[in-house]
Amino acid sequence: MRLGQILEHLRESGGVVTLDAAGRVRCAGNAAVMSEAVVQVLMAREEEVRAYLQEERAATLAGTTTRSHGWCARCGRVVWEGMGAERLPVGDLVCGDCLGPWDIEAGSVPVDGSGDTTRLEGSR
Ligand SMILES: [Zn+2]
Repeated sequence: MRLGQILEHLRESGGVVTLDAAGRVRCAGNAAVMSEAVVQVLMAREEEVRAYLQEERAATLAGTTTRSHGWCARCGRVVWEGMGAERLPVGDLVCGDCLGPWDIEAGSVPVDGSGDTTRLEGSR
């Protein structure tokens, strides 16, 4: 089985394989799917997994004109503008799907339409 197929399979079952801010491979999500054995297999091929995820991100960004805020700190997916993402007080970006009422209560800030996004032109 190729790596892409393995990751696709894990994700369909609720597993999360992503890169953290430091570029390390992170495994999370459904614990029944992301068992110790599965994580061990992935980490044994960490270099390969990292290269795959980086390529996947680049391809995702290249295939759209929609602007992105970055990556969700929880699920690792691309966070698009207008999708209800918020930034937590600790600085993590969380997509609308992963955001919980407790995050909003804790003081997260919406990143859409508040002038928080980086302007590409006309900033002066
Ligand atoms: Zn998310």
